Amino acid sequence: MTAKLIKGTEIREEILTEIEQEVKEIKEKHGVVPGLVTILVGENPASISYVTLKIKTAKRLGFKEVQDSRPADISEKELLDLIDKYNKDDSIHGILVQLPLPKHIDEKKVLNAIDPDKDVDGFHPVNVGRLMIGGDEVKFPPCTPAGIQELIVRSGVETKGAEVVVVGRSNIVGKPIAVMMMQKGRGANSTVTVVHTATKDLAYHCKRADILIVAAGVPGLVKPEWIKPGACVIDVGVNRVGEKPSKKDPNKMVPILRGDVDFEAAKEIAGWITPVPGGVGPMTITMLMKNTLMSLKYKLGIA
Ligand code: NAD
Repeated sequence: MTAKLIKGTEIREEILTEIEQEVKEIKEKHGVVPGLVTILVGENPASISYVTLKIKTAKRLGFKEVQDSRPADISEKELLDLIDKYNKDDSIHGILVQLPLPKHIDEKKVLNAIDPDKDVDGFHPVNVGRLMIGGDEVKFPPCTPAGIQELIVRSGVETKGAEVVVVGRSNIVGKPIAVMMMQKGRGANSTVTVVHTATKDLAYHCKRADILIVAAGVPGLVKPEWIKPGACVIDVGVNRVGEKPSKKDPNKMVPILRGDVDFEAAKEIAGWITPVPGGVGPMTITMLMKNTLMSLKYKLGIA
């Protein structure tokens, strides 16, 4: 293997330790801790496991955490009232609504009801606008793109003037990471190209990339010959390609996960590469915790 492996699990630990320390200092000095509420509607098993992990992480960091679980038949009005309650609660600095919501609820309406200053997911149109303006305007960068940028920075990859190619144009990964990488500032200042399903020659663009960020959701989409030797390859894709017995409990089946890049071949060509799992994945919740801490710091005027 020639590429340096970018280990999200290790970088996550670094960042969580920094957050934990800051929470302690703020508590001593100001007598407050970040407060995060997670609103879970219904009993979708994947949503339950995401929420459980978020709560576990928040607890470990010394946050105040509230898990507010509601039945799947909650009305839209009741959910909006609940959000309003947390918008007004001074001990809560971050509000998360776990998606997907049941069909009778308008997701957009619910997300837009969150106070933009507590929108730690960074999905509210106000925060999307702030991200576009850049610089000091940015309060809550969306978590997966923020995690990607952190992986690049902490791996020592030069971004200034770099050719960055982003595969995918979703609102949660492709578009925001493209915007972030082109802004002036730390871990950015790059020349960015976004490619997608209507791009004529995907290989041509990928081959030019000093930093290739792939978020398509198509296993093995990026071929090794599309990678520029020495490039930094960030594979955001998480694709279930089968099942295998769990190492801990061989009677239990666990999903086999693959990224959007042919990892085994790509690692012989790239300069840096993220594995799947264990690369970008661990960063999303980490950056969510960072955003919640930042929300408290903005409120205290110490950010
Ligand atoms: P999405 O389906 O919303 O968007 C995928 C994008 O890729 C689209 O813009 C589409 O145009 C583009 N695309 C799809 N097939 C393509 C092709 N053949 N050629 C060129 N472009 C193509 O997906 P998303 O929400 O952005 O997620 C992308 C992947 O990243 C998924 O595998 C998802 O599971 C993963 N993901 C991981 C994390 C994490 O690790 N924390 C977070 C978010 C998403």
